[in-house]
Amino acid sequence: MAEKTFTLLKEKYDLLIGGEHTPSSSGKYFDVYNPATGEKIAEVAKATREDVDRAVAAARDALENSKWAKWPASRRGQILNKAAAIMRQRFNDLVELEILNSGKSLSAAKGQVMQAIEDFELYAASVHTIEGKTKPVPGGFFHYTTKEPVGVCAQIVPWNYPLMMAAWKIAPALAAGCTIVLKPASLTPLTAMVLADICHEAGVPAGVINVITGSGADVGAYLVEHPGVDKVAFTGETTTGKDIMAKASETLKRVTLELGGKSPNIVFPDADLEAAINGSLFGIYYNTGQSCEARSRLFVHEDIYDEFVEKFVEKASKLKVGDPFSEETHVGAVISKSQVDVIDSYVRLGEQEGARVAFGGKVPEGPEFEKGHWYMPTVLVDVTNDMRVAQEEIFGPVVVIIKFKDEKEVIKMANDTIYGLAAAVWTKDFGRAHRVAGQLKAGIIMVNNPFSAFPGLPFGGYKQSGFGRELALESLDLYMETKSVLSYIGPKPLNPFGV
Ligand code: NAD
Repeated sequence: MAEKTFTLLKEKYDLLIGGEHTPSSSGKYFDVYNPATGEKIAEVAKATREDVDRAVAAARDALENSKWAKWPASRRGQILNKAAAIMRQRFNDLVELEILNSGKSLSAAKGQVMQAIEDFELYAASVHTIEGKTKPVPGGFFHYTTKEPVGVCAQIVPWNYPLMMAAWKIAPALAAGCTIVLKPASLTPLTAMVLADICHEAGVPAGVINVITGSGADVGAYLVEHPGVDKVAFTGETTTGKDIMAKASETLKRVTLELGGKSPNIVFPDADLEAAINGSLFGIYYNTGQSCEARSRLFVHEDIYDEFVEKFVEKASKLKVGDPFSEETHVGAVISKSQVDVIDSYVRLGEQEGARVAFGGKVPEGPEFEKGHWYMPTVLVDVTNDMRVAQEEIFGPVVVIIKFKDEKEVIKMANDTIYGLAAAVWTKDFGRAHRVAGQLKAGIIMVNNPFSAFPGLPFGGYKQSGFGRELALESLDLYMETKSVLSYIGPKPLNPFGV
């Protein structure tokens, strides 16, 4: 791996509570690693439930007593813009820290850090859309609505897009005037912690953003149950999302969930084959396949199936796996040893189910793969939609290819899943593209392109992929309550009982 100086890397990261970096009340730390080498890179404070209590209290105090709640929304917008400007200045440093902690490729990290910045800029502008309404009401009355922040928000993010997911959550919450307790994933907490510091540097008052690091099952779950929290915004696995929804229901917290997926990618026989193959490769192998919206079920029409598979495998074999810091790398490291084991066990399960490994299916060989966690881009063929490898989220660089006969059949198979996050359609027939798009049960549809997330476009799922939307104006609304105010302004006092 190339030698680097990591400007934003520290040996130890403490919790952020009430604007202060503070050790955990237990004094304990846990180790954080570089997935591409397996080497320890930092120690991070291991929060306790007592620390969660302190963080929630700090967020509550900032909500009720700081200048934050009293400022006009435009001032919060200015601060979001300033945070984005600081991120732009530190772009390369953020990219390097993200790669070091996640093992993702340079090109993927650059795109994601840029999207985190653009997300802050989007929500900086969005503050100007916050407004109330007035409704015509009977004579003598006057009515208006106002928007108010939901309150203290617990924001829990996963390891696959550490900075970008934190930005997707923090930016709309700040725009709305909420205060935050953020819990990054234990494997990848570093850039989210840097982002919180950047927000302070930009002028976010102490206590508005607090960061708790530690076990999801312990402090994450405690945060979700906490009576001092008004809303939970979670991104992660569907099973964790179900647990969170159940726990949050105890105090009827507002909940938004961005969960797993098994997204279909449908190639019709009239598609531009070259573009469909290139886009399908990106759709599954981007971010080493560790994407909620990975197009991991590839449906190919029977007329082009053989040619498609042959060319797809040929191109998959040309993808460069390796040093995440190299400009040439397409596929970086897998996040952890246990994730490599999960991926490999799914590939072996696929074989038992009757699938055939047409490419990959193992850890790559060579000296650069002796350390760290790796898996080859993998293609499973002879797959049917009822197999577990076609139904369960593998969360690695594994695509299953399924043959289909006609439009009706493929729509049925594409929708035959518990998930509904994303779907892609490849065809030159405009009518078919949009007819199919209209029938797919997914929140994000791509027609003749593999890009699922642009700032300003709503991102989120149907079915067990969750609910709520991020990355767009809809999200701002999910961080606000609507208050309805009805006033009597008539000349005579009211006497409803007439007594
Ligand atoms: P995960 O559910 O294991 O963990 C996500 C976060 O929740 C982590 O911070 C973790 O510490 C915390 N957590 C774990 N158990 C918890 C509990 N009981 N209570 C509260 N918090 C808890 O998910 P992961 O493995 O980090 O991420 C991968 C998953 O995220 C995949 O399923 C992927 O599809 C999903 N994902 C979805 C989207 C989306 O927008 N739909 C985006 C990215 C990732």
